Amino acid sequence: MAKVIEQIIPFHSADVGEEEAQAAGEVIRSGWLTMGPKTIEFEQKFAAYVGAKHAVGVSSCTAALHLALDAIGLKQGDEVLVPTTTFTSTAEVVCYFKAKPVLVDVDAKTLCMDPVDAERRITEKTRAVIPVHYAGQPCDMDVIRDMAKRHGLRVIEDAAHALPASYHGVRIGAISELTAFSFYATKTLTTGEGGMITTDNDELATRMRMMRLHGIGRDAWKRYSAAGSWFYEVLDSGFKYNLTDIQSAIGIVQLGKCDQMRDARAKIAHRYSEAFAPERALQVPTVSDGCDSAWHLYVLRLNLEELSITRSEMIEKLKERGVGTSVHFIPLHMHPYYKNTYGYREEDFPVASKQYQRYLSLPIFPGMTESQIDYVIENVLEIARSAAR
Ligand SMILES: *Cc1c(COP(=O)(O)O)cnc(C)c1O
Repeated sequence: MAKVIEQIIPFHSADVGEEEAQAAGEVIRSGWLTMGPKTIEFEQKFAAYVGAKHAVGVSSCTAALHLALDAIGLKQGDEVLVPTTTFTSTAEVVCYFKAKPVLVDVDAKTLCMDPVDAERRITEKTRAVIPVHYAGQPCDMDVIRDMAKRHGLRVIEDAAHALPASYHGVRIGAISELTAFSFYATKTLTTGEGGMITTDNDELATRMRMMRLHGIGRDAWKRYSAAGSWFYEVLDSGFKYNLTDIQSAIGIVQLGKCDQMRDARAKIAHRYSEAFAPERALQVPTVSDGCDSAWHLYVLRLNLEELSITRSEMIEKLKERGVGTSVHFIPLHMHPYYKNTYGYREEDFPVASKQYQRYLSLPIFPGMTESQIDYVIENVLEIARSAAR
């Protein structure tokens, strides 16, 4: 019989508890379960928190990205620049329009989209760019925005990892025309499932509010409330992407402790980096000048020439010792769908392909205890040292 391994430290554990349960319970007892006053409150608080004029609550970050591309009027045959080192959501939404996700190689230091490679891949069909703030570290938005301006591209930030993060003192969510956030279970603010789009543009906000709820005109959600009316008009073929009041009530509590959770993650990152930086076999993540990272992920890289084990063996050994890890991400150009549909090859993305062999994500969540942090450090060091060449 296989030995049952009791995981001592999971890769992730959401910081949710009594307060969130209480808030969700209150909504359930109120009798109004779907989108309503709590979602409006959450949107207003979220917009104020990041410093944007509008925040539109939706069912996921994938939905947020889809609505953003709809709002800018993406069409069949258009092209959108997307980093290859990301989750499939960032690119799949482009495919929804029968447009092409043009994958871009990443910067070796930050693993964010390489703006030089992005610019090389611009054609007359390119309409937009979706930078991803990988692991919570902001992309170099000045360079990306300058490129977008020169080529007439729209910028939609994938900020699934970047709450709260800032770039030269400005919160992510208040920089570009459109920014998409995720409240998935493993993200830095969770509502189980959920997402948000921020924008300062009234027209885009109105379009996204309409399209998230079936393309129905103003305040469709109110039609079942005492203040509402039975009459409504469908103005376009929209989607069912709204956020519920149960989710929003959880989100409001989470937003209230967002900074505190971020500080807890930053502290863990600091402990890890202090311990791992001196090791020849390990490379720790860096934060770019003028940036504050959300520290959604702690991505450790192995200097494989210094080690007799691979990244996958490192993961296996940590698992045997009860430490959960993950890999962010298998680059999109290596997945059968993107490879077969668009003919992407590994050699077209030399940096992403090479870095992929080297990285793993260590546990980093607010509830980690000192002894859990110590345990991860001890075991990573022990494995690395015993496998040193
Ligand atoms: C998690 C994630 C998404 C998708 O978020 P959902 O809310 O699950 O749709 C998009 N982009 C990146 C980079 C992600 O990590």
